[in-house]
Amino acid sequence: MPNLILEIIKQRPLFFDGAMGTMLMKAGQGSLKTPILLNRDEPDLVIDIHRQYYAAGADVVITNTFGGSPLKLAAEGLEAQMVELNREAVRLTRQACPDGKFVAGDIGPSGKMIQPLGDVAPEEMQENFISQAGVLIEAGVDLITIETMYSLDEALAAVQAVRKAGDILLLASMTYTRTKNGFFTVMGENISQCVSALAGAGADMMGANCTLNSTDTIDLTKELRAATDKPLLIQPNAGKPVTSKGVTYYEQTPAEFARDAKKIRKAGADMIGGCCGTTPEFIQAVKAELSKA
Ligand SMILES: [Zn+2]
Repeated sequence: MPNLILEIIKQRPLFFDGAMGTMLMKAGQGSLKTPILLNRDEPDLVIDIHRQYYAAGADVVITNTFGGSPLKLAAEGLEAQMVELNREAVRLTRQACPDGKFVAGDIGPSGKMIQPLGDVAPEEMQENFISQAGVLIEAGVDLITIETMYSLDEALAAVQAVRKAGDILLLASMTYTRTKNGFFTVMGENISQCVSALAGAGADMMGANCTLNSTDTIDLTKELRAATDKPLLIQPNAGKPVTSKGVTYYEQTPAEFARDAKKIRKAGADMIGGCCGTTPEFIQAVKAELSKA
């Protein structure tokens, strides 16, 4: 059976949600080191944020499980709650999700490095992601998004892990920095290296998120589009965070972000959402801009 998400993106752009962390900060939960705990401790807040994104026009909302892999949780002594926190996150997102919309299970970096740069064996890294992906898939997500990966090795371990954990639509999104020689991960991998390796490992869709603002992301999208035929998700930040008088805000406005989103779409993005600093207003503005004739 053809996947519904893949069918939709043949017809129109698919909209993802914006940041969770920025919304938590607005709700006074910004200092929290482990937002994933809110799935257990503040479920109504998490559901409310997800609902706001669906209401703003997101087709896909991402679960609050970015820090939900066992290695990442272990850094906070929360490893034993891995199953509960990930399962709850999916339940809360599904509760907010209207009919015909989608829930993406989110997987972020482990916070550790694979040997020899770090102390985690490759098999341990893969096991880490197999555990989390297994819970997300069993809890009923429509797809999995691996996000904000800054190391291709770790991203590959995650892609391979999801492929072992179950049969599910899989998106792999790296974070790139811009240098005068082009776009690279912080580990020095370039775009074509990343997308060909990720596709080879079994990712169905490619992405870039975080680090760059929407304007820098236009050129990034062009390069990604030239490097792969896979469906492409682009989720820029709303510029850099600026703190003034104890209040943190991001440089870009929803209107600016939405104008860039139109260029990002033109450059070949099939799916657009937002990363750090974006809110439901950004998603609403992007959808309105892209819906204009
Ligand atoms: Zn981000």
